[in-house]
Amino acid sequence: MEEFLAKLVQLHEHDLIIREQQVILGKSRTIHISDEYKHVSDRIQELRDALPAEVVGKYDRLIKGKKVPVVKVVSGQCQGCFYKLPTGLAMEVKANAGIYECPNCGRFLYS
Ligand SMILES: [Zn+2]
Repeated sequence: MEEFLAKLVQLHEHDLIIREQQVILGKSRTIHISDEYKHVSDRIQELRDALPAEVVGKYDRLIKGKKVPVVKVVSGQCQGCFYKLPTGLAMEVKANAGIYECPNCGRFLYS
């Protein structure tokens, strides 16, 4: 997996941990994340800083739309929206040669 994709996946995992905490903490969510999870939010910041701003922007939009931002391609199909990718794109994703997005749903793709 591309390094940047690995970071995106990690970012998403960390975001989910924080979100779970926010659900548990309820009302105070935007104000306070317990110290126990400070390292998680620190890591989130670290990952965000390490990724291109454009990628982070797209990631945030996907998250806002409640979408899983990074999905696998199986048999040439985006596993986010099940759109059948053009053969060329599916092959490029498989070759892991760069950053790819699903032309239908905009999620980041990996194989
Ligand atoms: Zn898709």
